[in-house]
Amino acid sequence: MDCIFCEIIKGNIPSEKVYEDEFITAFNDLNPQMPVHVLIVPKKHIVSAYELAEEDAELVGKAFLASKIIADKLGVNNGYRIINNCGEDAGQTVKHIHFHMLAGKTMGDKII
Ligand code: AMP
Ligand code: ZN
Repeated sequence: MDCIFCEIIKGNIPSEKVYEDEFITAFNDLNPQMPVHVLIVPKKHIVSAYELAEEDAELVGKAFLASKIIADKLGVNNGYRIINNCGEDAGQTVKHIHFHMLAGKTMGDKII
């Protein structure tokens, strides 16, 4: 299996970690789209949101709970956006589930 995020989780590829616990790791996106652009990544290799199993439900909650800690740590608890691209049509490029956490300026445009 050739997964860049699994390699980051194992420490084989460097990243700027902003948070880590038993289940979740979070690091700065290599190509930030906002002043704060963190990827919140469950350590378990799950391809996408569509591939989630019943047993993974708690893990998704843990990713969102991690966002609260990160928001406090990075001083962006005034507001942030969490985005998940799931699958080809949504433009998912890394096939290991992750949540983009975007913050650091007022966001005007909303998709929905
Ligand atoms: P997505 O298009 O939703 O699959 O998002 C993948 C994200 O991973 C993109 O925003 C990339 O910039 C980011 N990315 C790819 N490789 C790395 C890396 N080695 N370290 C940090 N972020 C990465
Ligand atoms: Zn992986």
